[in-house]
Amino acid sequence: MKEYKSVCPYDCPDACGLIVSVDNNKVISVRGDRAHAFTRGTLCPKMAHYEKVIHSPLRLKYPMKRVGKKGIGEAQYTRISWDEALDAIVNNFKETIDTYGSESILRYSYAGTMGVIQSPAADYFFRCIGATDQDRGICSPAKQAGFRSVYAFGLSILIKPILLAKLMSIFTLNQVVMER
Ligand code: SF4
Repeated sequence: MKEYKSVCPYDCPDACGLIVSVDNNKVISVRGDRAHAFTRGTLCPKMAHYEKVIHSPLRLKYPMKRVGKKGIGEAQYTRISWDEALDAIVNNFKETIDTYGSESILRYSYAGTMGVIQSPAADYFFRCIGATDQDRGICSPAKQAGFRSVYAFGLSILIKPILLAKLMSIFTLNQVVMER
């Protein structure tokens, strides 16, 4: 068995450090990296059994093409090769650009992972083809605009006032389950 240092791949800014145990090319456990400078061995429950996610039979591992109608219960998909999938995307992009211009393509994405390499990886491609840019996401800029309108700054609330607060109301997440 070997152990590797890694970082949580979820779309989460904490970017917790991981120790991944691998046996016979299979991830058998994931735990927090106590040597990580900030997260110090802490993982949230979402990452606690990531080995089950990695090896889940439900994971999407191959390109699937929709052959049925759109919509829940009606959609049907068939497996295609990577070459077929790439050809379909390239041809679609070419046809769209030839017909409507490159700015008619708008990608819809945010970080995917918060890694400094993976997160902006698609930026370069879409800028190269001249696609319409966006404010690097849909939900986060809206949240930041909300924060700015109340606090005059963007990303989040300040930690110090939280430490001094006598009462906190938390909306839209179960803090006890989500964070430790
Ligand atoms: S808090 Fe959870 S999801 Fe976020 S980086 Fe850490 S382990 Fe991953």
